[in-house]
Amino acid sequence: MFDVVVIGSGQAGLAAAYYLGKSKLKYLVVDKNSAIGDSWRQRYDSLKLFTPRIYSSLPGLSLHGEINGLPSKVEIADYLTTYREKHAIPVQLETDVYSLAAMENGFLIETSKGRISSKNIVVATGPFQTPYIPSFHDKIQHEIVQLHSSSYRNKKQLRPGNVLLIGAGNSGAQIAAELADDFDVYVSTSGKLAFKPLFFMGKSIFYYYNLFGLLDAGLESKRGKWLKRQPEQIYGLEMKKLISEKKIFEDGKSMKVDNIIWATGFRQDFSWIDIPEVFNDFNQINHKNGVSNRHGLYFVGLPWLSSRGSALLGWVKNDAYHVVNHILQPPREQ
Ligand SMILES: Cc1cc2nc3c(=O)[nH]c(=O)nc-3n(C[C@H](O)[C@H](O)[C@H](O)COP(=O)(O)OP(=O)(O)OC[C@H]3O[C@@H](n4cnc5c(N)ncnc54)[C@H](O)[C@@H]3O)c2cc1C
Repeated sequence: MFDVVVIGSGQAGLAAAYYLGKSKLKYLVVDKNSAIGDSWRQRYDSLKLFTPRIYSSLPGLSLHGEINGLPSKVEIADYLTTYREKHAIPVQLETDVYSLAAMENGFLIETSKGRISSKNIVVATGPFQTPYIPSFHDKIQHEIVQLHSSSYRNKKQLRPGNVLLIGAGNSGAQIAAELADDFDVYVSTSGKLAFKPLFFMGKSIFYYYNLFGLLDAGLESKRGKWLKRQPEQIYGLEMKKLISEKKIFEDGKSMKVDNIIWATGFRQDFSWIDIPEVFNDFNQINHKNGVSNRHGLYFVGLPWLSSRGSALLGWVKNDAYHVVNHILQPPREQ
C-alpha cells in the first residue's frame, strides 16, 4: 500500500510530487498519457502562453530563457519532462484510472494496469477534462467542418472560406487572430469581450497581479471576491486590434458558414470517483483549499481551488504545498 498516489502528471501533479519527494512518504504518480507534458503538446500548434517565463515555473526548477518572454507549449511540455527527471519523480505512465473507491483505511484505484491501494489520494487530473459542445451541433450540415478548440491544431484542418468561432476565451482569441490572415473570421459570444494587454509599461500584467497579491488572494478575501466577479479576461490585444481593423467580425447574425470552431470550454468529469460524500448537490467537490471532506482525499490544479492562481503554472505550488502539508500533519480532530 502506498502512502500517497497522485493521479495526473501535469504541472499540478508534479508540483505535489515535488513536495512529497521531500518527505519520507512512499508515493507514486500515475497518468494515462504516454509522455510527461502531453496535455500541453496536444494543444494547438501556435500556442504561446500568456504568463511569461518568470511566472511559468514550478518549485525547484526555473524555466530557461528570457524571463519576460512568453514560452511556447513545446517549451512547457519539455520543461515538465526535465522537471520530472531532475526531481526523480516516480511516474507510472499509460495508467488510466477508471475508478476510485474508499476503503476502511484508505482508497482503492482500478486502473488499466491493475489495482493500486493507497492511504491518501491527490487528484490532479486537470481543469480541462471533457470538451463541451452544445448538443445541437449534430444537426448542423455535414459539409461544415466543426472542431472543438481542444482538437484544433492548425488551419490545415479547415475548408477554404470563412470561420465562425463560437465563444472567445484566451484560446479562442489566439485561434481567431491566427486565422484572420487566411479566412474571414466571425466571433460569436454571449457576453462582452474584456481584453487586457499582456504587457503594460514594459512589464507583464502578471507582474502587477503579483505585486498586488491578486493571484494568491484567498477565495474569501476582499480581493479574491472582487477578482472572482470580474469577467473572463482575454490576455493580449491582438484580436481586439483585428476587430477594429475589420479583419475579425463580431456576431455575424445570419450567414453561410464553412467552418465552426467551438471555443465553448470544458466540463469537469469526476464520475470515476465513487465516493458520493465528496460531491455536493450540484456535483461540485466539497473541499476547502483542496482538502476534501473525505479524510485522505485531496485535489490540486483546479481553477479557484484556493485562489485565482490555483490552475496556473507559477502559482499551483501554493495548493500543492498546502495539500502535502495536510497529508503530513493533518490537524487534530476537534
Ligand atoms: C490553451 C491554454 C492555454 C493556457 N495558457 C496558460 C498560461 O499561459 N499560463 C498558465 O499558467 N496556465 C495556462 N493554462 C492553464 C493551465 O496551466 C493548463 O491547463 C495546465 O495544463 C493545467 O495543468 P494540470 O496539471 O492541472 O492539468 P493537465 O495538464 O491537464 O494534466 C492532467 C493530467 O492528468 C491526466 N489524467 C486525467 N484523467 C486521468 C485518469 N482518469 N487517469 C490517469 N490520468 C489522468 C492527464 O493525462 C494529464 O496528464 C492554459 C490552458 C489552456 C487550455
